[in-house]
Amino acid sequence: MTDRRSELAANLAAVEERIAAACAAAGRQREEVTLIVVTKTYPASDVRILHELGVRHVAENRDQDAGPKAEACADLDLSWHFVGQLQTNKVRSVVRYADVVHSVDRVRLVTALSAAAERAGREVGCLIQVALDAEEGAARGERGGVAPGGIEELAAAVAAAPALRLGGLMTVAPLTGPYADRPRAAFERLREFSSGLRAGHPAANMVSAGMSADLEEAVAAGATHVRVGTAVLGVRPRLG
Ligand SMILES: *Cc1c(COP(=O)(O)O)cnc(C)c1O
Repeated sequence: MTDRRSELAANLAAVEERIAAACAAAGRQREEVTLIVVTKTYPASDVRILHELGVRHVAENRDQDAGPKAEACADLDLSWHFVGQLQTNKVRSVVRYADVVHSVDRVRLVTALSAAAERAGREVGCLIQVALDAEEGAARGERGGVAPGGIEELAAAVAAAPALRLGGLMTVAPLTGPYADRPRAAFERLREFSSGLRAGHPAANMVSAGMSADLEEAVAAGATHVRVGTAVLGVRPRLG
């Protein structure tokens, strides 16, 4: 094994162990939680190693990096998740490789994604990103996401778009506001919004929450997908 391969294998095993322990503690089956490895800022060669190690879901947050990386890995059976704030002028590129976009937070983006996906002949899964720090007043959060009051409108827009599939909800634990430093409470709130959403959209059962620092809290709160970068790949060389 190369050094990088052994490093990634060891990190991945440790993350697997954390997820398994969190599932056991919560009385959940391991299969209920999907690990998405966030490969942003890391090269396609790492994606390739991760695939060899059994990873099947990867995530990126910038189209400029994600597009070429996905193309370099087109021969691998991988699901690509887009988790970054998304400009409408990037959707044409993103729908070419993304299987799921986790950061849907405005109707204009839904319209653009739908048109692009239809033109590309692809069906794209959409998660509505909820900004729990925007609960008071603001329409959207600092780091993207719609205020909880906007979930229903967006869900209806995605559900009505022929080339989009409403997958569920996503959040990032807020750094400010009532949920700052309370990831468990934040993820439980997301789970409540998910129950509300599923009342009208039973298939929209994905709950994307939890990163390297708080995946246990997310699993305890019912997340179906955790997005883990640093704990698998190492501390990123630059902000991303
Ligand atoms: C970078 C990123 C992650 C992974 O974060 P880590 O702390 O490196 O695990 C998860 N979700 C989103 C939206 C991200 O941008």
